[in-house]
This record gives sequence, C-alpha cells and structure tokens, in this order.
Amino acid sequence: MGSPRWNPDTQFKELELEPEFDDRFCAHCERFTYIYEHRDRRLFAKDDGPVHVVSKLAHCPDIDCPGHAEVIAPIAEMNLSPPHWMIDWKLFLWMGHRRFARSWSVPQIRSEIKDSWVQIPVCIVDPRSYMASSTWFTPPTSVASSRRA
Ligand SMILES: [Zn+2]
Repeated sequence: MGSPRWNPDTQFKELELEPEFDDRFCAHCERFTYIYEHRDRRLFAKDDGPVHVVSKLAHCPDIDCPGHAEVIAPIAEMNLSPPHWMIDWKLFLWMGHRRFARSWSVPQIRSEIKDSWVQIPVCIVDPRSYMASSTWFTPPTSVASSRRA
C-alpha cells in the first residue's frame, strides 16, 4: 500500500508541536533530553481543513542510557488525531456518529464527506483509490459551498 497522496495545490495550516518541559527529562537517568528528529504528518481537520503537523521528537543524550532508544513525543499530537490516521478526532467522531448512531451507510458517509470538504484527499473517501490514484477529487464548488451555508 502506498502512502496517502494530497493534491499538490493543497494549502496546509502549519502546526509545530514539542514535548512539554516536564516530559523532557529522561525516565532512566533524569537528564534533560534533546530534540533529535522532526516527524511530519499531514492530516485533515474538520474545522481547519488540511494541517501540516511537525512533531519534535526527543531522546536521552547519553548513548549508554536505555532512554536513548526511547522516543519522547509531544502528547498534544495524540489529542489531534488517532495514531496513523489522516483525519482529526472531530471528523473521526462525525463519521462514527453518522455510522453507528444514525445508521448511515458507508457510501452515504463518503458522499457527504465529498460534498462537504473539497480539499480532502481521495484516499479518505475511497480507500480503493489508495493504490492507483492519478486524479484528484474535486467536487463542484457550487454543491460544496451551498452545503456549508
Ligand atoms: Zn537517560
């Protein structure tokens, strides 16, 4: 399975996350950890649209400490969206509510997402397009704008 693809013209809202100060101390030797890598993630937020999240990852500076192999990631990233998902919690809950409380069918939910959010990647509304997607979904703007009004 390939990685999710976004329309190259997509405008992302930038968001940078860093572990909290209190979380930055090594659990084994209590040294202050340092940022050694950035993790990029692009997701679709129900209220904000496409978001580019940069999470700073930290670990212990002592190579011999077991904390050197442990990653300290920002907790705020988990509050944004489920791990490995391209949608935020709000859209996740919106879909779950339609599916299980209102008994909408999956095609009905996909159709509503297509009509409501213009910039959403095609692989979210149609997982079959995940592997062979050369075209980007762009619904008629009149339908999308009339639904938002
Ligand atoms: Zn350590």
